[in-house]
Amino acid sequence: METTPYRTWVEISREQIARNYRNVRAAVGPDVEIAAVVKSDAYGHGAVEVSRILEREGARWFAVSTAEEGIALRRAGIAADILVMADSLPFIQESLAEFRLTPVVHALEDLPALDEFAARLAAPLKFHLKIDSGMGRLGTRSSAATIAYALAAAPHVALDGLMSHFASAADYSTARSDKQVRAFNRLSADLRKLGVNPAHRHMSGTTPIAYARREAWHNMVRPGHALYGYLSMARGDAPPRILEVAPAIAWKARVLAVKDLPAGALVGYGGMFRTERATRIAILGAGYADGLPHRLSNRGNAIAGGKLVPILGAVSMDLTTIDVTDCPAIAPGGCVTLLGSEGEASINAQEMARMAGTISYDVLCGIRTRVKRVYV
Ligand SMILES: *Cc1c(COP(=O)(O)O)cnc(C)c1O
Repeated sequence: METTPYRTWVEISREQIARNYRNVRAAVGPDVEIAAVVKSDAYGHGAVEVSRILEREGARWFAVSTAEEGIALRRAGIAADILVMADSLPFIQESLAEFRLTPVVHALEDLPALDEFAARLAAPLKFHLKIDSGMGRLGTRSSAATIAYALAAAPHVALDGLMSHFASAADYSTARSDKQVRAFNRLSADLRKLGVNPAHRHMSGTTPIAYARREAWHNMVRPGHALYGYLSMARGDAPPRILEVAPAIAWKARVLAVKDLPAGALVGYGGMFRTERATRIAILGAGYADGLPHRLSNRGNAIAGGKLVPILGAVSMDLTTIDVTDCPAIAPGGCVTLLGSEGEASINAQEMARMAGTISYDVLCGIRTRVKRVYV
């Protein structure tokens, strides 16, 4: 299968990303705005390309973590609103104005400086305010009165959205998320009474969408994981899922060499694996420097010739060895699948993550830029 000249690459299905977006759209209905989360290079899928796909699907908002990520989208011609969720405001003010980015203010202490900066602009600078409704990370814990007072003292900035974030969205064995919704709604209502009535309210990523926590949708949601085809498994007594998505990425690696080892031979760094039988190994052009977790050493799998086969020994920086004794068709120059499916066999990021003792988000974001992105 000679699709690309690369050593290791990911194939990303534009149509699957579009379909995942349309499914999120169908789940939340036409009245809820979707801020498509494309931070961390769209979880490894390529933020510019994914944003272009989603703009064609009608997306009017994107969410990123840093101003730099927002600037990259603007430079690529993305016209939709861009929410910068987690950057250091004093350092990014200039770029907010220059590239029309909407910052998230997470501490009232940041407002005076932002206001002073915005006073020099032709129009008020729009921003979203993050509320800590129980996550215990970014977000203000101030009362409605304190927030309203701080807003009144900052006339050159305009509150366009009120947001919060769940700590345990997939855990239905506790009432923590319900408590967060109540805290957010209470503050939101108190602010409304004080005349603070922003256009957008949002606190839901993928999980509250997938499990239909409708009271947490308000009029905007922020899905990331779902756009890339993943839903976290819920714990406890979760309602049925209302969202179907499928992975959009397949990760391939070239076979650099194939060779036969006798029984009892050691494989790779530290001799971590000893062959029990005469073994044919294939050495792949991908390693932990490409994002294949080192923790998959001696425990992960790849798909070779449509069969799931084990990784032998240490995943090294640029190379990984697999057992192809039972895959006669595998030859140098061929390719194998690290993530994705071939025939009956498949490995998704959640399975790889479980093997590596991490989470699917980490696996996806961990695919390095040296792995070529190919859009199909
Ligand atoms: C990453 C992120 C999201 C998206 O979460 P998913 O679980 O990937 O849908 C939403 N909101 C904030 C604040 C985030 O940082």
